[in-house]
Amino acid sequence: MKIDLSDIVRVSGSFAEMPFEINMANVEETPLTAPITGKLYITSSSHVLMINGYLDTKAEMPCARCGEAAFVDVHADISEDFEVEPPQHHTGGPKVIEDDVEESCLFYPGTTDLNLEELLRQNILPALPIRALCTEDCPGLCTHCGTKLTKKSCPCQDEVIKPEWAELKKIFEKKKTGDGN
Ligand SMILES: [Zn+2]
Ligand SMILES: [Zn+2]
Repeated sequence: MKIDLSDIVRVSGSFAEMPFEINMANVEETPLTAPITGKLYITSSSHVLMINGYLDTKAEMPCARCGEAAFVDVHADISEDFEVEPPQHHTGGPKVIEDDVEESCLFYPGTTDLNLEELLRQNILPALPIRALCTEDCPGLCTHCGTKLTKKSCPCQDEVIKPEWAELKKIFEKKKTGDGN
């Protein structure tokens, strides 16, 4: 979605509040399972355009323990400033100067038209958790046979415990025979 900010840029000190709700299927490889909602607060002062605000959405990521789908809430605070070049006779309207045009591309080149999807994408990416969990206490995979313990238990669980129980059993049996004497 293209947002024309030229009116805000032209009048130093102007301010606009822009709520948004936008659907994006994914950011990079991560599917989004809810619309992106939030608000932008846009202000301009001579030669600087400031965009602040926040966004909320939900994403689907693989659980770090079991690999099943984990649904996570994503919240990001937005805070960006841009240098603005005033209107020139030969080039027309005002334009935003981005430090590294190839890296960011938040504005359509030579304009003050904000690319909202790109702004959201760049702010959602770092807000995704490094480790998502399907449930707070996901038991993950069995380290012996790889069974997903979220779905069913596996025989290894008993085997892991058994040797210790066997030891305990021996101790109890010894004690019994000792008492018998
Ligand atoms: Zn899990
Ligand atoms: Zn197992």
